[in-house]
Amino acid sequence: MFSHAGKILHVDLTEKKVWEKPLPEDLRSRLIGGRGVNAKLLWDLVRPGIDPLSPENVLIFGAGALTCTTAPSSGRTTVTCKSPATNLYLKCSGGGHFGSELKFAGYDHLVIHGASERPVTLIIMDDDVQLAEASDLWGMSVRDTNEAIKKELGDSGIRVACIGSAGERCVQFASIMLSVYHAAARGGVGAVMGSKKLKAIAVKGTGEITVSDPERFTELAQRLRDAFLWDMQGRKYFLFGTGVFGAGVAYNYLRSPPDSSELLSGPYLIKKHYLKRHVGCFGCTQSCHRYTEVETGPYAGTYTLGPEFETFSSLGAGVGISDPETVIKANDLVGEMGLDSISTGVVIQWAMESYERGVLTKGDTDGLDLKFGNDQALLRLIPMIAKREGKIGALLAQGVKRASERIGKDSYKWALCNSKGLEQSRVETRAVKSYALAFAVNPRGADHLHTECIAAGGGTGEMRDLLERITGEHWPNSATHYPEIVKWHEDIYAAADSLGFCAFTCTSAMAILEEEMAEIYSLAVGRDVGEDEIMLVGERVLNLEKCFNVREGADRSLDDLPWRIMNEPLPSGLVTSKRWLDEMLDRYYALHGWDLDTSWPTPETLEKLGLDECAAYIRSFRGSAEEAKRLDGGCD
Ligand code: SF4
Repeated sequence: MFSHAGKILHVDLTEKKVWEKPLPEDLRSRLIGGRGVNAKLLWDLVRPGIDPLSPENVLIFGAGALTCTTAPSSGRTTVTCKSPATNLYLKCSGGGHFGSELKFAGYDHLVIHGASERPVTLIIMDDDVQLAEASDLWGMSVRDTNEAIKKELGDSGIRVACIGSAGERCVQFASIMLSVYHAAARGGVGAVMGSKKLKAIAVKGTGEITVSDPERFTELAQRLRDAFLWDMQGRKYFLFGTGVFGAGVAYNYLRSPPDSSELLSGPYLIKKHYLKRHVGCFGCTQSCHRYTEVETGPYAGTYTLGPEFETFSSLGAGVGISDPETVIKANDLVGEMGLDSISTGVVIQWAMESYERGVLTKGDTDGLDLKFGNDQALLRLIPMIAKREGKIGALLAQGVKRASERIGKDSYKWALCNSKGLEQSRVETRAVKSYALAFAVNPRGADHLHTECIAAGGGTGEMRDLLERITGEHWPNSATHYPEIVKWHEDIYAAADSLGFCAFTCTSAMAILEEEMAEIYSLAVGRDVGEDEIMLVGERVLNLEKCFNVREGADRSLDDLPWRIMNEPLPSGLVTSKRWLDEMLDRYYALHGWDLDTSWPTPETLEKLGLDECAAYIRSFRGSAEEAKRLDGGCD
């Protein structure tokens, strides 16, 4: 099977059983690989209504269809499960080398079922798959876990995915760390791994992946590498990472950042010699990962990846801190403990605002003075959350939605999550309207990594050309076509994630769009795949993810934004009103062929996309909902 390993590895932790299944051709042709195939496995394997932290949830790792080839930056790994944070669909994309190693070991996907009673490590050495006792690793940091496993197995080249203290304690926003530094971060994937008592997965593969037309594939891959390498946006990411954008929003979206927050940026890290080296994920010439070190002062010896834009904002400007060394230290702490830096920052900001408003007192915070800007409180609070320590650690470990529901007193008004319950990424969605719509409709919650619609800003000629192609209108009018822009980005993102491409290759750098994806995938698998088919696969994946949420009871009411974003205007008067959002949602659902009242994909739309299993479900679900409504009506 060209470009794919051709097998799915299943491991049942309850029964201690391991089995393989072939990757069905039907899945490969309809959903490509990575995120797409993961979504179908989730749909098939997870019964609606289960507790995400029960053994009934599955945890799926998927390598991209092009991973392990020379296609540039195609080594991303998708991790998929039902989210404990939202009780809905969840996928995360992680960098590093885990997915490529899994594929070299012979597997495109790994599905973890059940739960162990005692901590275990899963060890995959090609087709030798074993579970090992891991009680000695339980409680270890991410860095120590990596080192201990490599030492135990006598192989420093082995690739490890593991959880830290946060995952062990099922913190709602625990991450899975791929190696020491790459995070599959959002929605509590690490909590799902922790609930299964799976401390780590170690993988080593010695196999090969072949493509159908090696000569033409290599030639095209080189052309795409060059295009990516010399793309101006791409160069900026290489130099500064997403830190090129600075620190974004501050003080829980309450007020403007202080001038000193300029110190929180990629360029400043270089200027002050914090930056030590650049490293890339598997097969990436771009190497945008930048390692930083603090050499003197109270945090001397701290060494971490980034910080990136989201961390500068969530654990810097957002908590009222402008000192880069404190943010580097905080970034290291969340990585070591396996916490999502965005959600960690959001819950701490919510707690700080609650404290300043008198809604939380020192009696609630275990004596911590939780004022914005208190760096020591920030650094103390991160491990408390990861270990659910004290009243405040236990409260915040539930995530901002549940914490605000527990505290009440109108604190939902400054809880920066939407109704789905995921803490919002750090974009000012009162001003940046494309992201506002994208965040509202994202199946995993208010987050950027499903639909990074950077092009909507029209920052470069290429972006403006793209907007014209999507909307049929010239810049700047094209920039107001938010539903079309969001839908196009959703589709290409889902396709890129299924192929294994990094988002920086397509929606940011614009080096690899649907035409290039189609060309290189065709040469890889030996079948003519057009650019329309690539985008259709993206749309199919998104609809499948949406249907998973419908099956869990989601409807239009969950496609919203945080209260503050919709009710508290910026000083300039900008706000994203409910009325505006409703109008956009109508247009967005119509574009998708979804029902305007419920937001559910119609059976006809799903059948057109070849998702007959989802169409049948929606038909029966819609039928019972209508019947329930009729009976309800009868009672009035
Ligand atoms: S551009 Fe950066 S994040 Fe993307 S694959 Fe390359 S190194 Fe990894």
